[in-house]
Amino acid sequence: MQSRRADRTAHPLSPFSKDFASLERYSRQILFAGIGESGQQRLAASSAVIVGCGAIGASTVSLLARAGVGRLRVLDRDFVESSNLQRQALFDESDARDSLPKAFAAQQKLRAINSAISIEGVVADLTPQNAGELLSDFDLLLDGTDNFETRLLLNDFAVKHSLPWIYAAAVGSYGVTMTVRPGRSACLACLLEGTNTPAGVEETCDTVGVLAPVVQLISSLESAEALKLLAGKEDALHGRLVSADVWSGRFQSVEISRNPNCRCCARREFSYLQGQAQPHVTLCGRDSVQIHERFRSLDLPALGARLATAVESVRHNEFLLRFRVPPYEMTVFADGRAILKGSTDAAVARSLYARFIGA
Ligand SMILES: [Zn+2]
Repeated sequence: MQSRRADRTAHPLSPFSKDFASLERYSRQILFAGIGESGQQRLAASSAVIVGCGAIGASTVSLLARAGVGRLRVLDRDFVESSNLQRQALFDESDARDSLPKAFAAQQKLRAINSAISIEGVVADLTPQNAGELLSDFDLLLDGTDNFETRLLLNDFAVKHSLPWIYAAAVGSYGVTMTVRPGRSACLACLLEGTNTPAGVEETCDTVGVLAPVVQLISSLESAEALKLLAGKEDALHGRLVSADVWSGRFQSVEISRNPNCRCCARREFSYLQGQAQPHVTLCGRDSVQIHERFRSLDLPALGARLATAVESVRHNEFLLRFRVPPYEMTVFADGRAILKGSTDAAVARSLYARFIGA
């Protein structure tokens, strides 16, 4: 999919003014001592980009638009489908019927929620090549993605440019969030790299499902952290990795220390920005593309068991696993490489790979 603006006519930025309408609109937030009138003014002058407008992204950007954050960009590569409506709070049946791009549908809804701020939807797949163009000139980056490949790209970009970002993820009934302040806190690579998650058992929302309440909970925590950062109330940040399971009722909050040898925030090797970790996609015959994944081996029987209820016609032998997500058919090899039949679009291939195989 080509990167394109859903609408190039940007709204004029209307700074928060002390007129009666603005004071009234945000009155309950201004009354809250942590924000006050000065915090509200800072929110109006601030900006954030939401990368991925699925369940968490849609809820977070809606809260920030309502709170009066002055400039918001929504970035997403997918279209609204009926299976999104159970949890993606910005979308409705007509968006799914029309298969509207999520970035465009979100832009329409958000402008109806708050016409005084600037909102821009961008239909694009975030890649190392376009990260600079799409993420620069914002005060804060927010995670609304569904895969670790894009999160680590965001993390590399944020650390390289000393921008804060907020990690947020949910699957099943479980969710997790952490605020990353480059140079002052652990980054996502400090947390994830060096640990060994066996390939083929990573769960995604497309294989084990996800409950809307955990999405709302994690989105709320992410939004609260965003408000603190943008209003200049950094002392109030929770500074921890917070996780919750809305089914078991278990809540946890742990301090994560920086890894003194972290690839990203210590050694400043931004491999995701150089595209080394991005699955490379090439055309492969008529109406097919190949996704080249390196440095991984898949447990095909485990992957097959995990996909059994999520996709159609899963079958595998010791060399490959094949399944259908109409109108596509994907064949995955034990070395992580995959061939997608039914499309020549690299974004579709990356999206399906992230959804069903995982990052
Ligand atoms: Zn780090």
